[in-house]
Amino acid sequence: MKNHKGLLIVISGPSAVGKGTICKELFKKGIDNLELSISATTRKPRHSETDGVNYHFIDKNKFQEMIDNGEFLEYALVYDNYYGTPKKYVIDKINEGKDVILEIDIQGAKQVKENYDDGIFIFIMPPSLKELKKRIFKRGTEAQKDIDKRMRCAFDEIQQAEYYNYIVVNDDLHKAVENIYCIIKAEKCKLSRYNFDLSEFKEEL
Ligand code: 5GP
Repeated sequence: MKNHKGLLIVISGPSAVGKGTICKELFKKGIDNLELSISATTRKPRHSETDGVNYHFIDKNKFQEMIDNGEFLEYALVYDNYYGTPKKYVIDKINEGKDVILEIDIQGAKQVKENYDDGIFIFIMPPSLKELKKRIFKRGTEAQKDIDKRMRCAFDEIQQAEYYNYIVVNDDLHKAVENIYCIIKAEKCKLSRYNFDLSEFKEEL
């Protein structure tokens, strides 16, 4: 008995809540068939980032061209920069039976939900806003005015967490990763994800 299609897993949460680290740790757990969608963005790369690995870094003209050609599964303006999920990669992988993680903001998650209601929508929650601010400072990649902007956005985003199927609090990284791992495992066992074909059982009788 097989469930052919892969899972579309959407992970969102405020800036610096630890989405990137959680995803990295998930991959380290060696879940079979798990893929990460690489977004396109008009944001400039940070020092530690590599084109084609963290993001596809493109300019506004190219981004607009991709919008016009319908190449995005979703896209959004986040903190003055555009971010979008290239559609083809995600759809191809899911059809191949791979599970794909999209690490995107809430505007993008809503667009995905409109078209893929059987997606799994997980919101990563900080233990507190105070802790979140500490993490943004520690990361040291944002100017003060950007930190303030990200904190205001964080509050708005948390207010919309009810839109998701699951909430995972990232207080302890190990526990947060374990919870997401369990969510993925459980979702894979959902009855609705199986194509019942009794003929394969009948043949064995
Ligand atoms: P950062 O600039 O810190 O890498 O990301 C800023 C925000 O953009 C994060 O909330 C991240 O989840 C979101 N983001 C990254 N890629 C995408 C995408 O493809 N689509 C959308 N809608 N948001 C994205």
